[in-house]
Order: sequence, then structure tokens, then C-alpha cells
Amino acid sequence: MRVLVTGGAGYIGSVVAAQLLAAGHEVTILDDLSTGHSDAVPQGAHFVKGTLRDCVAEVLADGADAVVHLAAKSLVGESMADPSKYWSGNLGTTLTLLEAMRVIGVRSIVFSSTAAVYGEPERTPVLETDPLRPTSPYGGSKTAIDTTLTEFARLFGLAPVSLRYFNVAGAHHVAGEGGGWLGERHHPETHLIPNTLAAATQGRPLNVFGTDYPTPDGTCVRDYIHVTDVADAHLRALDACEPGRHRIYNLGSQAGFSVREVIEVCRDVTGLDVAVTEAARRPGDPAVLVASSERIKAELGWTPTRDLRAMAADAWQFTQAQARAQADRAAAEGPGQSNAAAEGPGQSNAAAEGPGQSNAAAGGPGQSNAAAEGPGQSNAAAEGPGQSNAAAEGPGQSNAAAEGPGKTNAASEAGPSPKAPGPATS
Ligand code: UDP
Repeated sequence: MRVLVTGGAGYIGSVVAAQLLAAGHEVTILDDLSTGHSDAVPQGAHFVKGTLRDCVAEVLADGADAVVHLAAKSLVGESMADPSKYWSGNLGTTLTLLEAMRVIGVRSIVFSSTAAVYGEPERTPVLETDPLRPTSPYGGSKTAIDTTLTEFARLFGLAPVSLRYFNVAGAHHVAGEGGGWLGERHHPETHLIPNTLAAATQGRPLNVFGTDYPTPDGTCVRDYIHVTDVADAHLRALDACEPGRHRIYNLGSQAGFSVREVIEVCRDVTGLDVAVTEAARRPGDPAVLVASSERIKAELGWTPTRDLRAMAADAWQFTQAQARAQADRAAAEGPGQSNAAAEGPGQSNAAAEGPGQSNAAAGGPGQSNAAAEGPGQSNAAAEGPGQSNAAAEGPGQSNAAAEGPGKTNAASEAGPSPKAPGPATS
């Protein structure tokens, strides 16, 4: 089959594309690289860099039998601050895609929907027939797309399958030449497992958002599924596309793990300690989200095959592979300047480290952390309405500055070369 994968340079899309290629399909990826990475495009895929709005009609006209549609904006917090971006970026672009499919006569589409369509569920495990009550424009835009797909199936004989992902995690290994690990690299990163692994490697505390939920240990419970299992569900869904019928499936494991349990598994897998800061609840987080996956099991024969430990272990392999690649690049570039900048609606973390000058800057409405370390000059700056932390450390000159109406902490520490006056904690 010739399959167009929109968003195929992203975390889940790249794994779906790799699995399609491994199964012998022809794959074209359309991605504007706004959040994806060109080095995540699997070898053997045809890659078109562009937006759905500008390019999808042309790409489909070049020849496609089916579409896997993953390209989307997916930050709940950002969607609360900028709803139009989500209605136009998710629903608007999908309408462009569906119109192009209708005109050209491509019927099969697998759509990446989400557990966010259910909002705060009344009961768990959540069934596909449960009420749709999204609590964010992100969830709202995905719900509207699911409704549109049902209509297009009824009115035009479209053959859609919606997969409502619960918490996707882990990394996928592509074997052979040009292979390697495909994993999660969001900027900013908001997800629990990559944040826990980053905290473990950087030796800084992880924020646990909310410890007073009505759950056994007070932290949120989620249903985690391995990205390789998720990709497998897409391949099964493609085979199940049926004109005039909209199939909808939850993708979960029917098992829930608390934030504290996930952290414990990450500690175990990495052998590293993870310090924890008990932080306030993150707005919009439901206490428990666990899927019933009976329907997809019964109809498509899909069941998850990899457990939480495998997810953490594979994500850890990916994190280490990334660190090795970064070290190789830095060594190849020589002792130059290292810069890191992070900005976004959630927590923003920037860390720069290298033999030359190191600059880190973090800013955004959430908590901002910047850390710079190295034998050369180290500069760290954090600014924002939330808590701002900046730390610079090294034998050279160290400057740290934190600014904002929230709590501000700046610390600079120098070794033998004592030119490190950094402002005190305020
Ligand atoms: N979480 C946390 N610290 C983090 C990231 C996430 O405590 O740095 C919590 C979050 O509040 C939620 C759970 O971990 O209860 C899963 O969050 P994630 O963003 O991974 O997925 P979501 O369920 O929001 O899609």
C-alpha cells in the first residue's frame, strides 16, 4: 500500500512510518518540522517538508491509497492559552486533508485521536461509548475531528478509524543499517517519563504535579502504552478501514500506574536516584485515566505486549543514545560555545554544558530553570511569571540571573577563578 503519514517526523509518526516500511508498504511523510525532527524520518520513506494546508492536495495527487493522520498541535496548556491555534491547527488542517481525500478519491484514514476527548471521566476503565466532554481546546478540536470523520463516512463513504491514545511512552528500535532509536523529543517536554529521565541524568528534582488526588498514593493514575504497540495498532487499523463506517478504538492497557509508581520504575531502570519536588496540581489533569481496550482486542486482535518497565527501559536507551550523539557532535565541533534556550507554556528547562562558553536561558509562563556549567564562562538566565531558577557553575566566570514576579532563585558558583558575584536568592 502507498501510505501518506502526516506528522511522520514526530514521536509516534516516525515509529508508525518505520513499522509501515518494515511491513513492506511505501511511505510518504508530510511534516512541517514545527515539532518534528528531520533525523527521525526513517530511511526508505519519501519525505516532503511542508504544511497540510499548502501541500497535502499535491502530495495525495502523486499517489496514495491511505492516510495515517498524526500531524497536530498537542499541548493541552498551550491550547488553553491560544484556542484558535488548536481549532485552526487541528480541525482546520484536517478539513483541508479530508476535502483533498474526497476530491482525489482516497478513502482510508487512520486518525490519531486522544483520551482528552473524554475530559474528566465519570468511571474507569473508559469505554468508547462514554460521554465526550473535553475540558481543553486540544481535546475539543480532536472531538470535533472525530465527529467530522463520522459525517464524512456517512455522507461520502470515507473509511476512517480513530485511535484514542491514552499515555504513549517508550522508544522504538529500528534494526539494520540507518536504524537506531526513535523516541520522544518535545520542546518543551511535558511528559512524565522523559522528564523523570532528564531529572535523573541532570541530578535535579522532578516536579510531581499534585499529591492530593483521590488515588491510593495521592498522585494521578494513567494508562501507559508502548509506542511500538501503538504503531502496531495503526497497521491493524489500516487493514480494518471500511467505506461508510467510522471505527473508534481506545488504545490503552486497562492498567493504571500512579506518578510515584512510574518514578520508581524509572529509578530502578536507570539505577539513578530521582529527587522529587511536590508541586501544585497541573490545571486540567484528571485524577485517573484508564482505558477499556476490549473493543480493539475483540475487533482487531490488538493487545499491548510491552509493560511499563519496557517503556522506561526503552526510553532510557533512547535518552542515552541521544546523549552519545550529542557528545559526538560536540567533540566533532570542538571546544566552542554551547547554547541552550527553552521557552514554552509548561515548565521550561535549559541546560548548557561544554568546554567553551556555556549559555542557558529559560523563560515562559510556567516554571523556568536554566543551568550552565563548564570550565569557560557560564551564563544562566531564567525569567517568567512562575518560579524562576538559574544556576551557573564552573571554574571560569559564572553569572546567574533570575527575574520575575514569582519566586526567583539565582546561584552562581565558581571554582578557582573567583569572578562570580551572582545575585542572591530573592
Ligand atoms: N507529571 C508530573 N511531572 C512531570 C510531568 C508529568 O507529575 O514533569 C504528571 C502529570 O501531572 C500527570 C502524569 O504525570 O498526572 C502524566 O502526565 P503526562 O504529561 O505524561 O501525560 P498526560 O496524562 O498529561 O497526557
